[in-house]
Amino acid sequence: MKRTKEPTYSQDAQKALENHVLQSSLKKLQNRFGKGVMEYWAAKDDDELRDRVKRRRMSTIENLDVVLSLLADNVQKAGGHVYFAKTGSDAVKYCLRVAQKNEVKTVVKGKSMLSAEIGVDKALEQQGVEVVETDLGEFIIQLAGDAPSHIIAPCIHLNRQQIGKLFQEKLGIDYTDDPPELTRAARGALRRKMIDADMGITGCNFACAETGKISLVSNEGNIRMATTMPRIHLALMGIERIAATMQEHQGMLQLLTRGAALQKLSTYVSFVGGPKSEGDPDGPEEFHLVLVDNGRSKILGDPEFREVLACLRCGACLNICPVYGRIGGHAYHSPYPGPIGAVVSPLLFGMNQHADLCKGESLCGACLDICPVKIDLPRMLLALRHKLAYGDAKWQARQHKPSEAFAFKLYRLIISNSMFYRLALRCARLLQKPFMGKSGMIGKMMGPGARWTNDRDLPPLAREPFNRRWKKKHSRNQKRNNEVNHG
Ligand code: SF4
Repeated sequence: MKRTKEPTYSQDAQKALENHVLQSSLKKLQNRFGKGVMEYWAAKDDDELRDRVKRRRMSTIENLDVVLSLLADNVQKAGGHVYFAKTGSDAVKYCLRVAQKNEVKTVVKGKSMLSAEIGVDKALEQQGVEVVETDLGEFIIQLAGDAPSHIIAPCIHLNRQQIGKLFQEKLGIDYTDDPPELTRAARGALRRKMIDADMGITGCNFACAETGKISLVSNEGNIRMATTMPRIHLALMGIERIAATMQEHQGMLQLLTRGAALQKLSTYVSFVGGPKSEGDPDGPEEFHLVLVDNGRSKILGDPEFREVLACLRCGACLNICPVYGRIGGHAYHSPYPGPIGAVVSPLLFGMNQHADLCKGESLCGACLDICPVKIDLPRMLLALRHKLAYGDAKWQARQHKPSEAFAFKLYRLIISNSMFYRLALRCARLLQKPFMGKSGMIGKMMGPGARWTNDRDLPPLAREPFNRRWKKKHSRNQKRNNEVNHG
């Protein structure tokens, strides 16, 4: 059987550029949230808070073993179960065991990127369990059989007319593109599922070691229902998403909601940390916290990339990135798109498999400026490029394009020797002639050069190099000065 090849980063990026709905949505998103957050940072003096939270995040991450063990103790004291999963597949197996033991038929989910990272939905569905997303954006994506394209706004690539048609087809309602009507229809479809569900699976925005609680942030209230209505609540948490103290946790929440949606605080913040106690009106009978490593310890062990673990997953870097702003999230082929995805995806899922991502970013530095905790993504993007250019045993990175490395070596040789440089210029001037149009610009090159001229014309190399023109001009001036001085 002929296997269909997955589209590449460039192919998906090209497709995105031709998608007018996506282009208009991305523009609105970046104008509102990207520019909005930048203006907010410029107007408010929040530097002290941002620096403090970053310092504390790094110190907690450097003492991860201690804080995680304190968190586990506190959750267990409250009657919850804690499981440390070394890999994504260990975490999935644990979820399946819990589901099987409790004869789970339906799972309602709160938004969780980690669940997409480890593929838990598919595994549950293969066991005959119905999995229903309850976050409105994720619910739309699930109905469409699509993939999320933004960390916070997963269906940003669809407009309300497309969602209206989708709801008409899948939920059997009359067509409407009125957002409140659409929300009501989704709520109607989801309420019954919430009531019937045996298990709720959520992510975890942050956990607090000191209190043994995890926090879940939403603007819809769906997560609170997914954690309290089913008999079992299972929370998936990346091991880095932890604060040592409530004070640190508070700062992280503040910056998360500000960076994500310019909010002081989101509409709902739920603190969860165990099964319901006697006398509680609601809550699950069982609470499971699954702490997932899946490559995070390796990042922790590398000082060059450790800083990326401080990420709050606010999505602000996506909202300002000029690359994400044109190509959207699908081209990244990862649950983590945008500049943060361009760094974490190669580290978590393999450098060579995601080699295009770090090369696709523009290194303009906007992601660093907007990041609430000032994560230096541009520095790490360069470090990834370096590993891909020369290969790296520790990260099992093969030299991505040896021909590229050869080209750069050749370039270094040419520009460091004036004779070679002059010769190369002369050859290039001759070679460019057949590609020059009537306007005098280079319109269409061939081979590897074609990409430079696909979307724009290039100015040709000047007939005479700058240094020669400079010398000429200088000697002319000198001559004129001499004539003036000598009358
Ligand atoms: S890198 Fe910074 S801006 Fe990007 S998602 Fe993480 S915390 Fe937010």
